[in-house]
Amino acid sequence: PGTLYVVATPIGNLEDITFRAVRILGQVKVIAAEDTRHTGKLLAHYQIKNTLISCHEHNETRRIDEFILRLNQGDDIALVSDAGTPSVSDPGFELIRACTRSGIRVLPIPGPSAAIAGLSVSGLPTDAFLFQGFLPRKQGKRRDQLGALANERATLVFYESPRRIIALLTELVDILGDRPGMLAREITKIHEEYLRGNLSHIIESLSSRASVKGECVLFVAGSDKADSPMVSQEGLDEIIIEALQD
Ligand code: SAM
Repeated sequence: PGTLYVVATPIGNLEDITFRAVRILGQVKVIAAEDTRHTGKLLAHYQIKNTLISCHEHNETRRIDEFILRLNQGDDIALVSDAGTPSVSDPGFELIRACTRSGIRVLPIPGPSAAIAGLSVSGLPTDAFLFQGFLPRKQGKRRDQLGALANERATLVFYESPRRIIALLTELVDILGDRPGMLAREITKIHEEYLRGNLSHIIESLSSRASVKGECVLFVAGSDKADSPMVSQEGLDEIIIEALQD
């Protein structure tokens, strides 16, 4: 049988793709992509010619049999999502699980993931972290999940849309307390920005803007770090906003 390659792609800057990913995307029989138009642009940038088949939230289950059949016939397939690592808050899990259950070889082609990229510059403990991804939209469920994290000692990692980020930060202060955190926005993109400080200070900084735009990942210190502010109050104003642009 063939191999399913789970290929990480850039989360912004198109240079963030490995030599191996480029080679594999060119070599496989077909590429299963979350959005064929989006991945088409990446392929064009690297002058890769290959067949794209859509595999997203709404058709992943239907596509599985077809992909397993092709893999069993010996075709190699690359799985990609729009950005970052497939199946991390992205489609892919169902296909990957089906392949592992059918004894098909599944190999990662490692690369970017917003959670790890942000964590690596957060300045928060990285020895243990809990990836929470997107919380449920329903307020009751979301608050229950947050409540269950109250005593978690690991650094917490949340994906959230820019439209809801202030609401999430406010809820976090309410349920977990005003802990140290970092908001990473637009990682590797033109308007890349990292806001570090206690959650209330991140809220203050965002509230002074007309709107918050771009993709956001939020990191929050674990429960036993909650009482140790990341920076002295005096130094906060100078270091809370650290915008990077290249
Ligand atoms: N598979 C992706 C990964 O490995 O990170 C995650 C895909 S998920 C649908 C999209 C979310 O990831 C965004 O809402 C945001 O929370 C986060 N994200 C993706 N790219 C980002 C970036 N360049 N900067 C900040 N957050 C990003």
